[in-house]
Amino acid sequence: MKRTFEVTPWNIVTHDFKPEDKRLQESMTSLGNGYMGMRGFFEEDYSGDTLNGIYLGGVWYPDKTRVGWWKNGYPDYFGKVVNAVNFIKMHIKINGEAIDLAKDQFSDFELNLDIKKALLTRSFTVTKGDAKVAVEFVRFLSVAQPELSVQRVRVQNVGSNKVDLVIDSAIDGDVKNEGANYDERFWEVLSTEQGTDSGNVLAKTTPNPFGTPRFTSGMEMRNVTDLTADKVAQPSEKEVVNEFTGVLAPNESAQLEKRVIIVTSRDYDTQAALTDAMHQLSDKVAGQSYDELLEAHEQVWADRWNKSDIVIDGDTEAQQGIRFNLFELFSTYYGEDSRLNIGPKGFTGEKYGGATYWDTEAFAVPVYLGITDPKVTRNLLMYRYKQLDGAYHNAKQQGLKGALFPMVTFDGIECHNEWEITFEEIHRNGDIAFAIYNYTRYTGDTSYVLNEGSKVLTEISRFWADRVHYSQRNKNYMIHGVTGPDEYENNVDNNWYTNILAQWTLKYTLQILKEVSPEQAKKLNVSEDEKKHWQDIVDNMYLPYDKDLNIFVQHDGFLDKDLKPVSEIPADQLPLNQNWSWDKILRSPYIKQGDVLQGIWDFIDDFTPEQKKSNFDFYEQYTVHESSLSPAIYSVLAADLHYEEKAVELYERTARLDLDNYNNDTVDGLHITAMTGGWIAVVQGFAGMRVRDGKLHYAPFLPKKWSHYSFRQVFRDRLIEVDVDQDGSHFKLIDGEPITIDVAGKPVELSK
Ligand code: BGC
Repeated sequence: MKRTFEVTPWNIVTHDFKPEDKRLQESMTSLGNGYMGMRGFFEEDYSGDTLNGIYLGGVWYPDKTRVGWWKNGYPDYFGKVVNAVNFIKMHIKINGEAIDLAKDQFSDFELNLDIKKALLTRSFTVTKGDAKVAVEFVRFLSVAQPELSVQRVRVQNVGSNKVDLVIDSAIDGDVKNEGANYDERFWEVLSTEQGTDSGNVLAKTTPNPFGTPRFTSGMEMRNVTDLTADKVAQPSEKEVVNEFTGVLAPNESAQLEKRVIIVTSRDYDTQAALTDAMHQLSDKVAGQSYDELLEAHEQVWADRWNKSDIVIDGDTEAQQGIRFNLFELFSTYYGEDSRLNIGPKGFTGEKYGGATYWDTEAFAVPVYLGITDPKVTRNLLMYRYKQLDGAYHNAKQQGLKGALFPMVTFDGIECHNEWEITFEEIHRNGDIAFAIYNYTRYTGDTSYVLNEGSKVLTEISRFWADRVHYSQRNKNYMIHGVTGPDEYENNVDNNWYTNILAQWTLKYTLQILKEVSPEQAKKLNVSEDEKKHWQDIVDNMYLPYDKDLNIFVQHDGFLDKDLKPVSEIPADQLPLNQNWSWDKILRSPYIKQGDVLQGIWDFIDDFTPEQKKSNFDFYEQYTVHESSLSPAIYSVLAADLHYEEKAVELYERTARLDLDNYNNDTVDGLHITAMTGGWIAVVQGFAGMRVRDGKLHYAPFLPKKWSHYSFRQVFRDRLIEVDVDQDGSHFKLIDGEPITIDVAGKPVELSK
């Protein structure tokens, strides 16, 4: 655990700059607007260790797989989000020397991410020779105009001698991905153009042998400043630079504002159309003042917060955690573009390649349903529907029928090169089916499930029906050779979670097939024999269970392990994944993240309190939560069992996972998909929110440390506010038609 930022309700702020924490601070001050995002790296020169990362949604590269021993079925490439052309770059020179905080003497440092306004500022005073200047940077990625990045830098002479100031504002195409498998560059610069106060760079991703699309990005900057523009120089092959100079007398200051428009070939068919759009958008924003641009940006954020803010009184740490998580989640995805999805690291790092994982359906969908318009979640569902062709391909690769949605993807084709995950972690197919149910249950909108959704369900069911096998000895269906959500086990037989999801998917699909229109049924073309076979699997699926312990068994061999609780592991050996050999981890009983308990969370209303208790008590003692996705799920189950202190402890872990660097890996980027955890723990856990038969149910409790909490929730054209304090819980209808909800078993009418 490491805390590098101060605890405040609306800001991620620090007055401390240590080079060894630079990457951590960069991750924590990431900005995004759904269209693109960037780490909080410095715009000016920095010669120390840093990860300069800017990422454009949906712009990726198929990096040829690198394995020691090739096996049939391995994906050809590992899809990676491309580190974009660096459009925020600047050099700031004082008396001819560039400011570089890795070398310079400085004071009054402040790094401040305002999460209410989505604005990053940084300031410091630097001494270089006999010159002393105060520098302040501000930047935002506009949510009102997603192609727009705005930066402003102010330099004030706070010394007693005059200083010569030079600011170079640049766009640099000489960028690489740190994690490139073969150290290749993924960009080819097509052209550079430069004026006195403007310039642009067009770049295209390098050719690839896999037939995946190449992307072109166009970036155009306009600089507005009270400094003097130097004469136009020839741009270099990969970079454009506008140079501005001035002399500052003591107390004098100068300012430069840099606006960059970023467009990509994802939105334009030809290079000419892309270039036109880039110029037009640049002209459009040139007509607006900095304040106008900022105000429009802040207004969109204000609307988002109005729907989704969670207020916690009495515990600022908890308050900051939840807001930071919602902020970074929205910065990654707000559903505007159905071609995009929510990468586990969003726009905050290269790891996990910015690709789509099961995280979206399992962890993000429940949250987006509660705080955004249903169309946001519908877009996420459409994303999978549109990728069905890729899913057929993946199933075929494994010699199976139907559709296997990928564990990791950009376009539907599996692009993860760890075979255990690619071939075995097939529960993801069930999670994608479950998300369709979850959306339909929450919104009451059946239009997706009865149309596109029924196709997805049918093809997933075809996969399951082919992937199970019938055990003649036991007279039931089994699924061998899988990895469950607990990736600290590989190639296990009859993972309870996978088996129950497969069984459930087949059951749900059979139900939906009865509800679809005759035309849709015809299109789906599921024969009577096929349905009979699916029903047989539903009726005879093997689900490992232990009668003595009254638990569902994680997989066939789990109870024969050397079952010692986590409390017996010496503290210096945790986290296991940084201290133990992989072999030792696989043999151990330690659970990376909820597996049986993930399933109990999914179907929480289907189990008795005794079943939930015995499973929770048993599995919790072996769980190390070394996936950031884990604690929130346990928190909800703990709350459901009235283990309130445990629920709060696990909330703290999920809500401040990155802020406190719990798993010691936030340097790589934020755990964006796990940032759903705080909301899940508060709303489903502490407030006990469930949807049953189209109705909202709550059973709230107030954590001991807190004096009050409240949140807003979107539900079927209503906005509902839930307030919980020492006097109990209070519900208010903020928007929409009257509604009856259920609070601790009693109906409550809400109207405006
Ligand atoms: C987790 C997976 C998850 C992935 C990306 C892994 O550590 O075990 O469940 O999909 O991270 O978040």
